Parts: sequence; structure tokens; C-alpha cells
Amino acid sequence: MAARNVPRFLHSFSKPTATDDVFLRLVEGQGATVVDNRGKRYIDALASLWYCQVGHGRAEIVDAITAQAHRLQAFHTFERFTNDPADRLANELAAIAPMEDARVFLTSGGSEAVDTAIKLARVAHFVAGEPERTLVISRAPSYHGVTFGAVSATGLPLNQLGFGPLVGGVAQVPHDDLDAIDAAVEANGGPGTVAAIIAEPVIGAGGVLPPAPGYLQGLRERADRYGAFLILDEVICGFGRMGAWFAAVRYGVTPDLVTFAKGVTSGYQPVGGVLVGRAVRDRLEADPDFLLRHGTTYSGHPIACAAAVANLRVIRDERLAERADPIGDRLRAGLEKAVDGERVLSVRGEGAMAAARIDPEGPSAIAIRDEMLERGVIARPLGTDVMAFCPPLVISDDQLDEVTGTFADAVLALSR
Ligand code: PLP
Repeated sequence: MAARNVPRFLHSFSKPTATDDVFLRLVEGQGATVVDNRGKRYIDALASLWYCQVGHGRAEIVDAITAQAHRLQAFHTFERFTNDPADRLANELAAIAPMEDARVFLTSGGSEAVDTAIKLARVAHFVAGEPERTLVISRAPSYHGVTFGAVSATGLPLNQLGFGPLVGGVAQVPHDDLDAIDAAVEANGGPGTVAAIIAEPVIGAGGVLPPAPGYLQGLRERADRYGAFLILDEVICGFGRMGAWFAAVRYGVTPDLVTFAKGVTSGYQPVGGVLVGRAVRDRLEADPDFLLRHGTTYSGHPIACAAAVANLRVIRDERLAERADPIGDRLRAGLEKAVDGERVLSVRGEGAMAAARIDPEGPSAIAIRDEMLERGVIARPLGTDVMAFCPPLVISDDQLDEVTGTFADAVLALSR
């Protein structure tokens, strides 16, 4: 029998049977805090869903959105139209891109960005006379999104379960094993079949896993050796989260394609996209008759792009990238205090990302999340044994201490 009393709104990543009372109804936000409809305040220790770099309630971004909406609310950017905010955003992103002379494809979110990057990689090889280069190598665990291309590249089997045939031509390798890539290439027809390697610099939703030293350089070296493109999925890592505009800079690796979303607008409007480096560009631009048959209705949406431009200005003017390491260091030091080898096993992370590993035998990360919500802090469980933290880059030291103190208190309260 169908569940009763469920809201009309069918929520993402939720049980369809979840009743209305399960959801916290948020009504406003300021800085690193949000408020629900009962007036209860929460510290947002995950920047909503890993994206609210500049914090909530930024009037300068709202003003930019409003001004653009009054001028030109929307017009598509397929052949032969463009608009100022889209071009301005593309120019600004190219200027901060972690590769030379990039162009910028715009989407409405991260999954579309990942699908776009995979399609661009494949079609670039196609137009260069190498149509057999279709293999995409991705890692497990990893999270790249939910559209068919993105979920096919994602290394979280539960996210793929039940959705039928996925996009073919994806080989997954353990996230920390470079040799496994060589084996996967051999097992899938050899170097001439590889289109791209895709990787999050720091794995986010897959568990907050920073790369081992040299790992990302190892990806670059393999991509070069196989004639494949390196796609860095910076949907979480970009826009200051790792102490630089892009994590590629932190780790000293030059990608061919970069997927971005989230922090590009801090969530004030839905924007994502792909930075397209020279190697891909050269192929796409070689034949003047080639038409790129890809793009969505809202690519380059002027209101969304105006929000992104205003958001980038805030990140730049307030030097928020410089806050990433101090925030992360304080967060991880605070979480370390809860490590007892019994309930909380270890702490990891990099930049302004952190995770605590929870003993599977003790209170689950989901129960700890719920207890923390009661106490006014929002963090995110990843599975049942990891608790993730990724706060706005405007969070204060006092708020960070409250976050880590609340985590420790919640664990303790549930262990009694
Ligand atoms: N790639 C990464 C690394 C992500 O973390 C996410 C979302 O969390 C995505 C892609 C998908 O982005 P979206 O949810 O905007 O489609």
C-alpha cells in the first residue's frame, strides 16, 4: 500500500515514504547559520551540500541577481545568441583556470558538467580521427553525480543499483591504486581505447579522501602516456575550498578538463560547467564545419551567471581561499579530540574539508547526525561510518569549536 502523509515534493536521496515531519523546514540564513520555521538556529557545517562558500544571505549576490532579472531575465545561448553575464563569467573562469587558454562550457549543475566533460572527451577524440577512444577510467569510491553519464562514472555501487543499463565504456579502479589503471587499460583493449581518466582531487561524497602524495601526478602521467585526457572533477574542491581557486593548483597538476559547479555560485543560482583546455580545444576547433551538438536550455543563463560573477567577486575580495586551511586545521584538531579508538576512530581531510571515521559497531553516523541536529549543528553522514564537514569559508573559530564540540557531545550522548 502506498505510504500516507507523504509530501507532494518527492525529495532527492530520501525515502519516498518519509513523512513531512522528517524534514527540517529552513526559512532563512546568514553567514554560517540557517534558521528553521520554529526559529531554531543551526550552524551549517556542510555549507548546505558542500557549496555555500561565501555563506548565506549575501546581499551583493542577491542584488546582482535582481539587477540582471530586471534587465534580461533569460535567453538561450545556442547558436547565435549570447549575453553579457555568460561571457563575463567565462572570461573570469578562464582567467583563474588551472590550465592555459581554457574555454568554458556552462551547465546548470555538476552532473551535467560531468556528462559534458565525458562527451567532450569522446567527441574530441572522434573528430581527431580516433573514434575508438571511448573508455573512461574512474575511481571507486567516487561521486560524480546522478545523470546517466555521471552515475556511470560514479564509484558507489548503491547509487547505480536498479537504474538499468548504465553508460558503457567505464572501467573503475580502486581510488588509490595507479597500477590498477594500467591493468584496466590492458583489459579494455589497450591505450588506443582510452578517452579520459576522471578523478576528484579530494574524493568528497565518497568519504572525504585526499589523494596520496604524487597520486594526481600519476594520473597526469598516465593520461599523457595513453593519449587520454585528464578530467578533474572539482565540483566540491573548486572555488577556494582547497586554498586556491582549484585543487589542481594545490596539488600541482594540470588537467585537460575541469568540471565545476557548487561553489561557482555558492548555490545562489544553479550553475556548473567545464573548463576546456588546449588539448581538447585544438581537436574541437580543428574543423570549421564541426558542430558541437551538446548543450542544455539553461547553459549560460544570464541570472545564474550574474550570480556566479558576484560570488567570485566575494571570494576574491574577501580572500576566502586563504581561510580554507585555517578552517580545516581547526576543524580537524577539534574532531581529533573526540577520537577515542572506540567510537570515533580517526579524522581525515584537507583544505576546508574534514571527516571523522566512526566505528561501525557503535552509534551510526546517521544517529550522530540526528543528535547533532537536535543540538543545532548540521553535518552530513556518508554511509553509516563517516561524518563529513565542509563549512562555509566565512565560518568563525567560535562556530567551528561549537561544531566539533557538538559532534563530541552527540557521540557521547548516544554511547550512554
Ligand atoms: N561531482 C562531484 C564531485 C560532486 O560532489 C557532485 C555533487 O555532489 C556532482 C559531481 C554532481 O553535482 P550535482 O549534484 O550538481 O549534479
